Amino acid sequence: MALIVQKFGGTSVATTERIKNVAKRVARWKAQGHDIIVVPSAMSGETNRLIGLAKEISSVPDPRELDVIASTGEQVTIALLAMAMHAEGLKAKSYTGPQVRVLTDSTFTKARILQIDDQRIRKDLAEGNVVVVAGFQGADEDGNITTLGRGGSDTSAVALAAALQADECQIYTDVDGVYTTDPRVVPEARKLDTITFEEMMEMASLGSKVLQIRSVEFAGKYKVKLRVLSSFQDEGEGTLITVEEDNTMEQPIISGIAFSRDEAKLTVLGVPDLPGIAYKILGPIADANIDVDMIIQNVGQDGTTDFSFTVNRADYTKTLEMLKGVASDMKARGVTGDAKTCKVSAVGVGMRSHPGVASKMFGALAAEGINIRMISTSEIKISVVLEEKYLELAVRVLHKAFGLDQAD
Ligand code: ADP
Ligand code: ASP
Ligand code: MG
Repeated sequence: MALIVQKFGGTSVATTERIKNVAKRVARWKAQGHDIIVVPSAMSGETNRLIGLAKEISSVPDPRELDVIASTGEQVTIALLAMAMHAEGLKAKSYTGPQVRVLTDSTFTKARILQIDDQRIRKDLAEGNVVVVAGFQGADEDGNITTLGRGGSDTSAVALAAALQADECQIYTDVDGVYTTDPRVVPEARKLDTITFEEMMEMASLGSKVLQIRSVEFAGKYKVKLRVLSSFQDEGEGTLITVEEDNTMEQPIISGIAFSRDEAKLTVLGVPDLPGIAYKILGPIADANIDVDMIIQNVGQDGTTDFSFTVNRADYTKTLEMLKGVASDMKARGVTGDAKTCKVSAVGVGMRSHPGVASKMFGALAAEGINIRMISTSEIKISVVLEEKYLELAVRVLHKAFGLDQAD
């Protein structure tokens, strides 16, 4: 007998019919003698709808109130799921995050889980219940409802698995595992049987939304056995996220291609090249809670420098306005920006021991006439910023160039 946490994403609980199917799946696991905690997302599209309602009232809704509304989507699915389980003859009880309680910090809309009280859940499990806990939410010390950022139900599931020392955390979604790239963009993408935590962290942080990055972080930190599976298939082992040493086979050089569409690039032109420039430009942006990603600085012949960086596209207009003020204070020549950029990255632990990956990547893009606007590298990834219109082409070309296509 094992303790298993099973998370079901939005498409897996999109209709009452699918919710009934989830209950049937859970009943099969329960019949094998396992203890099960189920963590559903809201029905697909529901969180967007709720946030949309808030935005009809205010273009910048109060984050605390936004969390009060955004968290309700999951409250619907936990109750429906528990009822569907009752119909299968199972004992089941549903809880919201705050009821459990999932304690978070107070960063509304992207709160971090600090602690989970396992007592209530353990008692219910001992009494033979399937425990259904709403994903994506918790409460801070003062009892304010918080949410964990988009895609946050993955993190709820892994955090619950860590808190209860579950034997496995299964993430059921609309694909049957982690692929070499998003199979919706490259139909030739291959499912991976395993991927290392490190690679999965990079893939998630570089845009592969199959797992929320914090869930991978948590799983690595607390040694949670994490698996991605299809909720629409009964068979299949999905993809297991592994620790690198467990992989006895030689690693491929590149395991996957990740991409993110919602990037924007900004440049402050002709900044006097003096100490403290980066701080002066980026300080106010960090203070406004805007995440800065890639940064490049070039010193020209005339002793001035062009300072470029990328932000999430949603923050573009705000950042541009802020930069205009900073640029005139610093007597810079001006500010330019492009909201239509994207980032494409090649990820693989094998890169450490194989030089030449960057040049192969640049060569493949050059052969298609794709202009690279920015580059950044780390030990196990290379990212390039491109014009957004090249995104799909670049992903396909790199997927093929690194031998990841199914036929290869
Ligand atoms: P859920 O609602 O179940 O949480 P998500 O939409 O968050 O599902 O994540 C699953 C989606 O992630 C897939 O439908 C797929 O389009 C996308 N995806 C992006 N990159 C990958 C990848 N490397 N492997 C598998 N799926 C990926
Ligand atoms: N319902 C939330 C969202 O759409 C959380 C999740 O699905 O994981 O982002
Ligand atoms: Mg998701």
